[in-house]
Amino acid sequence: MHDLVIIGGGAAGQAAAMYARGKELDFLLIADRLGGRVERPAPADRDYLVGNILVHYDGPDADDEENLLIGSSVVHRFARQLRDQRDYILQDRARAVRRDGDGFVVDTERSGPVAACAVIVATGATPRRHPHLNGNAALLTELGHGTTQHRSTLTGKHVAIVGETAQALHSAAEFAASALQVYLLLPGAGAADRSEVALLRQRPNIAVLPGYQVVDVVTERARRVLVIRRGDEVSRLVVDAAFADLGYEPASGLLHGLGVTGAGGFVRVDRDHATSVPGLFAAGDVTMPAGEQVLTAIGDGARAARSAHFYLLTRPVQPVMR
Ligand SMILES: Cc1cc2nc3c(=O)[nH]c(=O)nc-3n(C[C@H](O)[C@H](O)[C@H](O)COP(=O)(O)OP(=O)(O)OC[C@H]3O[C@@H](n4cnc5c(N)ncnc54)[C@H](O)[C@@H]3O)c2cc1C
Repeated sequence: MHDLVIIGGGAAGQAAAMYARGKELDFLLIADRLGGRVERPAPADRDYLVGNILVHYDGPDADDEENLLIGSSVVHRFARQLRDQRDYILQDRARAVRRDGDGFVVDTERSGPVAACAVIVATGATPRRHPHLNGNAALLTELGHGTTQHRSTLTGKHVAIVGETAQALHSAAEFAASALQVYLLLPGAGAADRSEVALLRQRPNIAVLPGYQVVDVVTERARRVLVIRRGDEVSRLVVDAAFADLGYEPASGLLHGLGVTGAGGFVRVDRDHATSVPGLFAAGDVTMPAGEQVLTAIGDGARAARSAHFYLLTRPVQPVMR
């Protein structure tokens, strides 16, 4: 039995692993690959093994460094440090986390059950794709937290944002600071009544379009054309860039039956990243309905590991130090 199992090899999972390693805990990181969202596809000649895990990208080229997500170089550095710690890493996917006495069993896809006194779940979340657009959905750029990077290239231009998440509304305000015109499409009923939307309407260069669905997106002369519909009314919106933020789908299915997820399936945690089940912690995007950032995921992972460490130290049976 391990003292701690960490599930997920993204920013949060790796930060938790680095903390656990620093505290000389007996831990195992279960991950299909290291890097999570930070990792990008790389040429085959850049593949290497971390433990048994094939990592597809070994850090940035020098001239790429400036263009990376803030915090990603830290995550790459974690991966390089974990590479030398083969005993700590299991390349697999976790299917389910179950209670077993006062500990846990993590069922994996290929390696059978793994027992642990404490578990940190850091499995991330995936942006929801637009339901109607099929192949053309890629023409709506996923907004994520990339507003600031996109904003400078869209000064004086026309921008469309589809979605009513906190991130979508925040981005409308941020783009409006430098774009000529921002169109905010709110597909859902009721979003238009929110107080944040009332504040956005006061900005002279934000047009709020409530109740509109995007039914198609095409590119014409390097501009995006959105075909939008409200009831029987169909019209075209021509912009320089179009973004969507329809929220996130957390990878929390493996916690089914433990009663630790809340609205939208996100894992509910307290400020110490503890769930309501003693010994079970969660960190990063799997806990964040609004999505978060690489830097905050790193902090979350470290805090969750700190809490798990304290939990282990205050159990009747003391942890095994490596
Ligand atoms: C479109 C987009 C743009 C973004 N832009 C920025 C930005 O500009 N700046 C910024 O700071 N942040 C940005 N973010 C957010 C940032 O990428 C995330 O907040 C951060 O990577 C979250 O880290 P994480 O470890 O919680 O999750 P992830 O990075 O998603 O890692 C989770 C890992 O767990 C693995 N996993 C899932 N389920 C299992 C399982 N059952 N068993 C084993 N492994 C599993 C996944 O494969 C994945 O590798 C963006 C996000 C999106 C979607």
